Amino acid sequence: MTELLSTLPGTGCAYYTQGHCMRKIKSDPGFHDAWRCSVLEKWETAFDAYLDQVDCFDIDQDTIMRIWSRRFATIKAGVRCPHFIPGENSILSCGLLHFDLCRRKMPPCPGRCRFFIREE
Ligand code: SF4
Ligand code: SF4
Repeated sequence: MTELLSTLPGTGCAYYTQGHCMRKIKSDPGFHDAWRCSVLEKWETAFDAYLDQVDCFDIDQDTIMRIWSRRFATIKAGVRCPHFIPGENSILSCGLLHFDLCRRKMPPCPGRCRFFIREE
């Protein structure tokens, strides 16, 4: 039976995403941090640092965001990922991005297993 199940694809499983398995996140949410896209993480760190900086000045929100969008253009151009593959049109446009996670960091789905849960 196990052999039969492993020959079936994992597509349709709630944990399945383009050949990868997210199940470990359920038992250990620490995997969420471990699998986060490193580019998005760097952008967020830069944004937090920027907010800390502007906190010291009396500037209005519009100006804060205007300055950030200029700064972000430079940050975006400077942060590269060697594993980037062009994908759908999101803010990052990487084909391996799944929400804020990188599929490359997730284990592959070997096929339908005993943890298979049908997607809602
Ligand atoms: S491969 Fe794509 S999703 Fe993964 S870390 Fe690099 S840019 Fe992010
Ligand atoms: S079938 Fe099993 S290995 Fe594949 S995504 Fe689902 S839980 Fe993970």
